[in-house]
Amino acid sequence: MENVVIIGGACAGLTAALYTARANLEPLCIEGYQSGGQLMLTTEVENYPGFPLGIMGPALMDLFRKQAERFGTKFVTADVTKVDFKTKLFEIYVGNHLYKTKSVIIATGAKPNTLKIPGEKELMGHGVSTCATCDAAFFRDQDVVMVGGGDSAMEEAMFLTKFARKVFVVHRRDKLRASKIMQDRAFNNKKISFIWDSTAVKVLGEKEVTGVVLQNLKTHKEEKLDCQGFFLAIGHTPNTEIFKGQIELYENGYIKVVNQTRTSVEGVFAAGDVQDHRYRQAVTAAGSGCAAAIDAEKYLESL
Ligand code: NAP
Repeated sequence: MENVVIIGGACAGLTAALYTARANLEPLCIEGYQSGGQLMLTTEVENYPGFPLGIMGPALMDLFRKQAERFGTKFVTADVTKVDFKTKLFEIYVGNHLYKTKSVIIATGAKPNTLKIPGEKELMGHGVSTCATCDAAFFRDQDVVMVGGGDSAMEEAMFLTKFARKVFVVHRRDKLRASKIMQDRAFNNKKISFIWDSTAVKVLGEKEVTGVVLQNLKTHKEEKLDCQGFFLAIGHTPNTEIFKGQIELYENGYIKVVNQTRTSVEGVFAAGDVQDHRYRQAVTAAGSGCAAAIDAEKYLESL
């Protein structure tokens, strides 16, 4: 029987592991096959405090993991397949293997949404990207498309203009969802053009992106646009499939929390992007992991 099982091995989960390990709770971290989370897909991280010269995303995750391991975190490199939070001791399954635990910290993160159109998956990493902040520098003096109309799309489109020649923002409506200030900044940026009421229906290219086929959603007319980069900022989906029916989720799948980390089940806590769709930063996820660890520790003390 475990004191605390942490599900997820990225910023939030590994910070929760570090704190619960230092509290002598001997945490078990089921880190998933694809541990490290979204930072594993980034190149240089320049906004994680303590690294004035920046650090590569995977290297940062490696340091997080080593630090959690140093204080006795036990790791299982596999995906959790089922949970049961209705029993007194919570049950967590990895295939047929059952772990029983007094408390749980969920830190399974979120994944960027994609359009699921031909060429998108095939050219991912070869011109298709869900992270402009990570990949913008590869598109110096090139033309790129950014799909989305929210704050992320505006922020990333503006970031892209530091490198790209031209950024075409493709949005499915004729009004942006982004906040007024972000809209104003984007409208005032001479490198950004808007293509309204449209979506992409195909990404073109053999080994690299050479263009996209856009469709006007009002006229249904299709047209080809030459570009070398195809970026998506159409929201994220939290990794909460296995928690459905076990804890309360919002309609969009994010975990409902009160007092920062408490879920609807006493003893089950949630940290990081799985419960935060607003900040979504490595440092806020880590902070949230720390909070969940302290809350879990207090909960265990109270038992
Ligand atoms: P978001 O606000 O949900 O916006 C997603 C955008 O993608 C929307 O414009 C949406 O179109 C579009 N979209 C969704 N699915 C689509 C599809 N299948 N095809 C085409 N377009 C699609 O997500 P976000 O921009 O990632 O922002 C998430 C949260 O973080 C927000 O609360 C935001 O304010 C915050 N944020 C803040 C900042 C900042 O303040 N600096 C920066 C980034 C994010 P519709 O508009 O038609 O729905």
